[in-house]
Amino acid sequence: MRFDFAIVGGGIVGLATVRAILKRQPGARVLLLEKEARFAAHQTGHNSGVIHAGVYYAPGSLKARLCRDGAIATKAFCRQNDIPFDVCGKLIVATNALELERMQALEGRARQNGIEVERLTADDLRVREPNIAGLGALFVAATGIVSYSAICAALACEVTEKGAQLRLGSKVRAIAEDPQGVTIETEGETFHADRLIACAGLQSDRVARMAGLELDCRIVPFRGEYYVLPPERNHVVRHLIYPVPDPDLPFLGIHLTRMIDGRVTVGPNAVLGFSREGYGRGAVSASDLYDMARFPGFWKTLGIHWKSGLRESRNALSRNGYLAECRKYCPSLTLNDLQPYPAGIRAQAVARDGTLIHDFLFAQSPRMLHVVNAPSPAATSAFPIAEMILDRMLGVTGQAGAINAA
Ligand SMILES: Cc1cc2nc3c(=O)[nH]c(=O)nc-3n(C[C@H](O)[C@H](O)[C@H](O)COP(=O)(O)OP(=O)(O)OC[C@H]3O[C@@H](n4cnc5c(N)ncnc54)[C@H](O)[C@@H]3O)c2cc1C
Repeated sequence: MRFDFAIVGGGIVGLATVRAILKRQPGARVLLLEKEARFAAHQTGHNSGVIHAGVYYAPGSLKARLCRDGAIATKAFCRQNDIPFDVCGKLIVATNALELERMQALEGRARQNGIEVERLTADDLRVREPNIAGLGALFVAATGIVSYSAICAALACEVTEKGAQLRLGSKVRAIAEDPQGVTIETEGETFHADRLIACAGLQSDRVARMAGLELDCRIVPFRGEYYVLPPERNHVVRHLIYPVPDPDLPFLGIHLTRMIDGRVTVGPNAVLGFSREGYGRGAVSASDLYDMARFPGFWKTLGIHWKSGLRESRNALSRNGYLAECRKYCPSLTLNDLQPYPAGIRAQAVARDGTLIHDFLFAQSPRMLHVVNAPSPAATSAFPIAEMILDRMLGVTGQAGAINAA
């Protein structure tokens, strides 16, 4: 059977893209290929579950707009599908003078992005969150929590009912494009489609290169290690508690996150990973290491970020170091409060010059679109990202090449 669209990847971006196609072209023949035995098996199912409001992103940027629109669309989808979510609000807490300065800049950004924020003094903060200490904080009421795996399960049901074919356990091994369409090979099966959209997360660069596209970046895995509080400590916070982030890094810092299942996680940190899909501590993949070592941008980014890298690695190796980061804003936490919890792994695109790419990045050819970088908050933004992917895909006439969406 020939398909109108083939999608690679059953994370939230791939599934939302199938839904967007079927909304725009009801009856289209759509195939989704996912190599794992379940949807949301990688980043989408190993994240903090936060519906971000969009405080952090440059005013007017695509990332800011996608996040704001995505938060609205995510909450609407949850309401329609009876998926539990909670708009519990978040506090961004400054614990020193530099962070206070950065917090003021964030406040300006949030207002320019049209997001309501409330500035709290140290005393206001103590009233709102008795276990949290800081020189001041920003309260973002619109931030929420959800299970993105639950959203994927509902998306899979909806698009299957509308006729999409979703294949689990189908790893794409070869892709060939010609003027008539795209041929996709998995182990033992060959499919033909008019167009292909790849949303392959941690494997995005490999899938794009497998399809013959040239890329000037590679995916470097960054582990996000979490702990979880023991149940009797779940009351320690009422909201989500975030530090003020370092504007040079694309990670938000170790936060206290209320999860939709009632637990409270601590994390994630951001440490260089040695395996793209190995979740255990100390997981190493020889092929992932080899690919990283051959890419000059990897060594350059190590040179640029070695200080923060060392700090993060030290804290990852010692629970005491990790605890010290959290105690800056939640002094009552103890080592006993840091119970084991599964890690996540971020697909971080790194450019040839060592720059960490903060924005969405797409590589496109006449019949293919590859989502090369879909960093946080791509789970929040997945619905509008899917619409944007379709706009780009259906409007394309030009040559292959990488397009930065920012
Ligand atoms: C630790 C962590 C915390 C985060 N917290 C948040 C948050 O709170 N809020 C938020 O909005 N975002 C958050 N993010 C970001 C968000 O999770 C990701 O941006 C988003 O899930 C990306 O979705 P995706 O579909 O692009 O990728 P993925 O979920 O990684 O899906 C890609 C899929 O492609 C499949 N695939 C790859 N290669 C092939 C192949 N050859 N054949 C077939 N299938 C293939 C994979 O198996 C995978 O299922 C976080 C990310 C991490 C790692």
